[in-house]
Amino acid sequence: MIDVPSIFGSMVFNDSVMKTKLPKDIYKALKRTISLGKHLNLDVANVVAAAMKEWAVEKGATHFTHWFQPMTGVTAEKHDSFISPEENGTVIMEFSGKELVRGEPDASSFPSGGLRATFEARGYTAWDPTSYAFVKDGTLYIPTAFCSYTGEALDKKTPLLRSMQAIDTQAKRILKLFGKDVVHVDTTVGAEQEYFLIDKKKYLERPDLIYCGRTLFGATPPKGQELDDHYFGVIKPRVAAFMKDLDEQLWKFGILAKTKHNEVAPAQHELAPVFTSINIATDHNQLTMELMKSVAEKHGMVCLLHEKPFAGINGSGKHNNWSISADGVNLLDPGDTPADNAQFLVFLAAVIKAVDEYQDLIRLSAASAGNDHRLGASEAPPAIVSMFLGEELTEILDCLVNGRPCQGKEKVLMEIGATVLPHFPKDNTDRNRTSPFAFTGNKFEFRMLGSAFSVAGPNIVLNTIVAEELSGFASILEESTDFNKDLKHIIISTIKNHKRIIFNGDGYSKEWEKEAEKRGLLNMKTTPEALPAYIAEKNVKLFKKHSVFTENELRSRYEILMENYCKIIRIEAKTMIEMVHKYVIPAGIRFQKFLAETLSLMNGFVAPETTEKEGNLLRSVCTLMDEIMEKLSLLEEKSEESSVDFQSVYDEGLFVRDEIFMNMEKLRVPVDKLEKLVPPDLWRLPDYGEILYSVD
Ligand code: ADP
Ligand code: MG
Repeated sequence: MIDVPSIFGSMVFNDSVMKTKLPKDIYKALKRTISLGKHLNLDVANVVAAAMKEWAVEKGATHFTHWFQPMTGVTAEKHDSFISPEENGTVIMEFSGKELVRGEPDASSFPSGGLRATFEARGYTAWDPTSYAFVKDGTLYIPTAFCSYTGEALDKKTPLLRSMQAIDTQAKRILKLFGKDVVHVDTTVGAEQEYFLIDKKKYLERPDLIYCGRTLFGATPPKGQELDDHYFGVIKPRVAAFMKDLDEQLWKFGILAKTKHNEVAPAQHELAPVFTSINIATDHNQLTMELMKSVAEKHGMVCLLHEKPFAGINGSGKHNNWSISADGVNLLDPGDTPADNAQFLVFLAAVIKAVDEYQDLIRLSAASAGNDHRLGASEAPPAIVSMFLGEELTEILDCLVNGRPCQGKEKVLMEIGATVLPHFPKDNTDRNRTSPFAFTGNKFEFRMLGSAFSVAGPNIVLNTIVAEELSGFASILEESTDFNKDLKHIIISTIKNHKRIIFNGDGYSKEWEKEAEKRGLLNMKTTPEALPAYIAEKNVKLFKKHSVFTENELRSRYEILMENYCKIIRIEAKTMIEMVHKYVIPAGIRFQKFLAETLSLMNGFVAPETTEKEGNLLRSVCTLMDEIMEKLSLLEEKSEESSVDFQSVYDEGLFVRDEIFMNMEKLRVPVDKLEKLVPPDLWRLPDYGEILYSVD
């Protein structure tokens, strides 16, 4: 039996370790740095580094690494050993404050979108003391931010930390108006993670899974997710063993793994942690995804994090539960006093206004080639951004706006700041699963994220846009001579002006698409449409104002993400072309040969009418083969157009989507039809049924 409390965080240089390993004054200085973002001087860093090394060596570490999150979407690490040579030919283990605080990986090959020419490749990493270091596989991992020599962000952590600063500053202004002096405002996130587990042997037989993380072909099996028998179903022994092992690993790294269950699609599962501060939640989610992959390998399986590994059944997403917390108190939790309720309403109004005014950024934060398969495909939220508040809260807001009595216990006229909000249920009973952005009682659940995403991007957007609205409200209220009157006006006019973003109905329905268009809401179905929002004037202004991104950084991010989209689809197209040549066409020919030989043999014995059905089958196969070859050459022709032929990344993005991706979709149709006819010994690729039911 494992003793969870004793293994929890055992590989982490966390607060309790710091307390025991560091001299009191050093510990205090480090804590000040962590909680207030104060600069750490080198003397202190030296002592911290020495203690960290000593602790890490006890845990079996021989190396350290500055762990960072470049724009590739996965984490990066380069390991250096602690060894330092002595004159007598021996070595000692050493780690200095300088090495802890700053690193200079020659990381010139990471995407920088033109921010850093390769000839001046000096990107550097800077220690982020707000996220704890940990030991994994014999290396001390130090969470770091990654910047160019001139201080421009090349990663996901730097802007996230800046956005945390923005919301801290603005939320404190509002809280001050309510007479509250808080030390620190933070955003909290709980990221629910979906994934697929399949057998490693089957995986290795599918080049598309190896190169693209998703299947490019595959006829739907006779049984998919129709019966909903997998959802919350009994967990199979091999999967259960994986989950147990994973939980243990996660706990050792101080990750609050809480819930695990089977998801809707066969072979699909979910893990949810207890929420924590956004910076840590981001690092933890990256680590969770990495560990899911490595633990799966140990169990002879592969963990697929792609958003749509299989057509015809659900893909995988990530739910970003988000709230704002002031010194540990949740600001999206309506309180019990009129003042607390008024404060709750200001924050709620800020989120409503932010989501409406910056729908484009919210949509953009969930855009990727993989996620394009989900958004709008009746399984994930639609590509249209809207908010679900639930019937009760919507009704309360409506009463406020229209000055009519509320349907609470005693039907009273609601006075902001003078009356208490009628209660509305905080449980999840009336949860609307089709809404991209749902209020769930004391937090918002942003459901558009793809499963492979870093949660940094969406939370940079959320923090910044909400900070912006809070700042607008604070500027008015700070000048106010009648606080309650102006407060009421702000809340009511915000709800009035932005109510189009609130929608409690079925987000998957066709009617909603029409209704949303009438309301003037954006509907950006694909990544190339969504990405230009990065460089829209209003958004550049927003990010600059809150010092989250410079214009250059935004441009570089736009370019990196658009190029990334193009590269992913080009790799998929190449893989598809190769698989059709090497697997699909030969399989079709084998089947044609088998049918033709059988036919000619039969025709030597029986009358031609007798073999009519077999003849028809051969003809259908020939027709499909014709179609496949025709569509294949079209795809080949389009894929040959190289990136240099385009004026801009935007032009290339549209071309890749409309000409390459669309032709892949078209080629897939006859291939899947052929697969349904050809016997497995001739097809020679594991089919959906074999892959999805490969784990016992
Ligand atoms: P589900 O969506 O599966 O019904 P729950 O409502 O149990 O899930 O919680 C989903 C996630 O929301 C969990 O990861 C939980 O820790 C997180 N969560 C709860 N409260 C907050 C909060 N104040 N801020 C951020 N995340 C939260
Ligand atoms: Mg959820």
